Amino acid sequence: MVETDVAPVKPVEINQKWCKGCGICVLFCRQEALALNEEGRAVLAHPERCNRCALCEDLCPDFALEVLARSPGQERPGDSGSLKSADLAPRLADRPAKPAAAEPEPAGLPKLQLERYLRRAKMPHLWCPGCGNGLVTHALLKAVHQLALDQNKTVVVAGIGCAGRAAGYLDFDTLHTTHGRALAFATGVKLARPELTVIVLMGDGDAAAIGGNHLIHAARRNIDLTAVVFNNSIYGMTGGQYSPLTPTARRGTTAPYGNIERPFDLPALVQGAGGTYVARATTYHSRLLTDLIKGGLQHRGFALIEAVTYCPTAFGRQNKTGSPADALRWQREHAMNVQAYRRLAHDERRDRFPVGLLYCGEAPEYTEASGAIAT
Ligand code: SF4
Repeated sequence: MVETDVAPVKPVEINQKWCKGCGICVLFCRQEALALNEEGRAVLAHPERCNRCALCEDLCPDFALEVLARSPGQERPGDSGSLKSADLAPRLADRPAKPAAAEPEPAGLPKLQLERYLRRAKMPHLWCPGCGNGLVTHALLKAVHQLALDQNKTVVVAGIGCAGRAAGYLDFDTLHTTHGRALAFATGVKLARPELTVIVLMGDGDAAAIGGNHLIHAARRNIDLTAVVFNNSIYGMTGGQYSPLTPTARRGTTAPYGNIERPFDLPALVQGAGGTYVARATTYHSRLLTDLIKGGLQHRGFALIEAVTYCPTAFGRQNKTGSPADALRWQREHAMNVQAYRRLAHDERRDRFPVGLLYCGEAPEYTEASGAIAT
């Protein structure tokens, strides 16, 4: 045997100061390579078992974990774009990436790839351990990274609520606006500076109740915004009230006997209102979610991506949905590829919901039309 002095490549890097100890990575690691230490933080207990599948990275809601040195044969499906995003006009592909911000490195912490997009001074985030909001935000950052968007030309606008706090963690130009008004602010930004990429982050109540009117009119105008709705089926931050996306019979503090209303089908609503790109994915299917957000960012017109997530605290406790890992398993078992879903008979669709690119069309874009008047 030939001996070398080359150190073995560490397969996984973990930022333990950001890890909130939800244990999702440990539970989903098929190789049993990870464990929680005495402080409840994730550690790579058996590096020799790791096959770099990166499921732990995809399902870490704390931006705390990254798989390193992935070989070509171990590339994740999402990296190559399972939705064939290249079919959509890659109008942003030639934008140069901004160099990493020159911030002092916290002593002893690993530098993870996506940290350049985060305001590190504000980490760890304030979301509850295991909350799906971190997973949606993580998918968004991967989409931005894979498209090499210029941080100086990307604006993130968010509303109020747990999801809205995401804007505070992202190192772009960000606006944290009033409840339900994120799309109104974003419309103003886009009209003033059409060359900017504008991303809008909203929760389900923010987007579909308080901001419902702004949502349908942004869709009707087909203005070039990418809206990501964090649908956790409840108002988490304000006390667990039911929202227009809470499923029938599920409980909230304002529906203690179960919700008697039917929820909106948000993608169908936006498509009907005139939106030209509508998609849905879950936090479990994070690579699909990243691909769909990438497709939305590359689409010219109003794009809505419904990210089906979960709130283990306000929704989970009232509805006894179990741990964050249980919520992810539920998503895995109930979400279905849209093509397969459409082949099901009506009765067979019960308890299932479609994920994927649900609709993509063309229509005049609003800032182009307004720009034509101005010139
Ligand atoms: Fe997440 Fe719910 Fe906690 Fe808000 S209340 S941070 S949505 S788990």
